[in-house]
Amino acid sequence: MQPIVSKLPGKGTTIFTTMSSLAAEHHAINLGQGFPDFPMDSTLTNAVNTAMQKGFNQYAPMAGWLPLREVLAEKINFLYHQSIHPDTEITITPGGTYAIFTALTTILQPGDEVIVLEPAYDSYVPNILANNAKPILVPLNPSDFSIPWESIRKELNHRTKAIIINSPHNPTGTIWSESDMLILQELVVQYQLYLISDEVYEHLIFDGALHQSVLRYPALFQRSFACFSFGKTFHCTGWKIGYCVAPQNLMEEFRKIHQYNCFSVHTPSQVGITEFLKDRSSYLQLGHFIQEKRDYFVELMKSTRFTLLPSKGSYFCCAGYDRISEQGDLEFARQLTLNHGVATIPVSAFYQVAKPSPYIRFCFAKKKETLEAAVEKLSLV
Ligand code: GLN
Repeated sequence: MQPIVSKLPGKGTTIFTTMSSLAAEHHAINLGQGFPDFPMDSTLTNAVNTAMQKGFNQYAPMAGWLPLREVLAEKINFLYHQSIHPDTEITITPGGTYAIFTALTTILQPGDEVIVLEPAYDSYVPNILANNAKPILVPLNPSDFSIPWESIRKELNHRTKAIIINSPHNPTGTIWSESDMLILQELVVQYQLYLISDEVYEHLIFDGALHQSVLRYPALFQRSFACFSFGKTFHCTGWKIGYCVAPQNLMEEFRKIHQYNCFSVHTPSQVGITEFLKDRSSYLQLGHFIQEKRDYFVELMKSTRFTLLPSKGSYFCCAGYDRISEQGDLEFARQLTLNHGVATIPVSAFYQVAKPSPYIRFCFAKKKETLEAAVEKLSLV
């Protein structure tokens, strides 16, 4: 048997799996991997259940259940004032991560360069490498994780095929501003780039801020794959359902990759989500709901020696621990799990060259009781 030549040499198991296993093994409270521990809306589980009972159990169309794509087009028009053709410009996918992988696989040729801003969600770089393309890593501004426009400009050249952006941002909880989007639009048009926009936290945005979707910017959208997640939106990360929105010419190629990979997505979930989404409050109240959790967590954490960074969106908040320990973040997060019973994610895991980061990431999308129990332990650290 020929040996497998690894497409991802040097990569092991993801930090999310590692920390969740460590948490389970040591009975620690898991504020690491980003998933809610509170129940999702029973209107949605009932709608999916009803869809199954009614017999919606065979293959959905390859691009997704059309009524779902129609209701999504309406939502996009309502929120972002962009008119999207449900038949040709939306594809339902098994999760946001799959949508991102498929978009990258659609556009990349060997040797193409893709700009990735670090810290970055851990799937982007492996997705680029698996396509024999080259990630160009550009650090976000270290003081506040804002966008390093000068460094980005320096990296642009004729091999640059795409840039990946993520707002609200995992792991830092920062968000893109309108002026960032306008600069991006100018560069993307000037350099004829493609844009992969990871918007899985679109509704989890706080303090009345507007989510700067690429769908708000017609010239950007013409070159974009915008990737979304129902799991993050409706607190059901285990459902693994999301969608990609892209202009027709891009979406045609995306579907060629998608149809030979998973082909189509769980039908009853799509039928149930369609019904649920018809009521706008299903998504309009989400920012407020998660903001309450952020506020509660921030208040509780005042009793600890951690230094929280501001979180403007997502499930996450980063924290410095220099008043507690001089350990590297990987070791610190391990010790915190083992000795103090709280699991987190070391932020160095969001960098390719893992130099220790002064931060760990907390997920605050948890029940009040969970946050209280965790912070009680953290206040002893
Ligand atoms: N998106 C989730 C996080 O950042 C994890 C998803 C995963 O486990 N791969 O925590």
